[in-house]
Amino acid sequence: MSDCVFCKIVKGEIPSTRVYEDEEILAFRDVNPQAPTHILVVPKEHMANVLACAERKDDLIGKLFKAAAAIAREQDVAETGFRLVTNCGEHGAQSVHHLHIHLLGGRQLTERMV
Ligand code: AMP
Repeated sequence: MSDCVFCKIVKGEIPSTRVYEDEEILAFRDVNPQAPTHILVVPKEHMANVLACAERKDDLIGKLFKAAAAIAREQDVAETGFRLVTNCGEHGAQSVHHLHIHLLGGRQLTERMV
């Protein structure tokens, strides 16, 4: 999608700090980190949110979680713990409409979700 910021990051048109990449998935550091480790795991193909991803016949949704788990290990937060979040739509406060999973860790997160 031509005006999508994450599509531009995937294409290298906007700079990012990449931490993981494979054929279908890219992960990079959030520009406005909410925790010492704050990484966004995104499919390279544009899709708006988890609803769109869940409609696919392939296992991309599983691959995104597997990539997030591998990144958590690689970034040394697997032992101490971390949080995976995907915001969806207006009430979910999704601001970038290209599916992404936030990987947050590196400090004690609050018990509150909202
Ligand atoms: P959400 O509110 O769940 O849609 O999250 C979007 C996230 O994308 C926010 O945490 C932003 O800080 C992050 N973000 C927006 N633009 C960029 C960018 N150019 N590079 C890295 N992260 C970004």
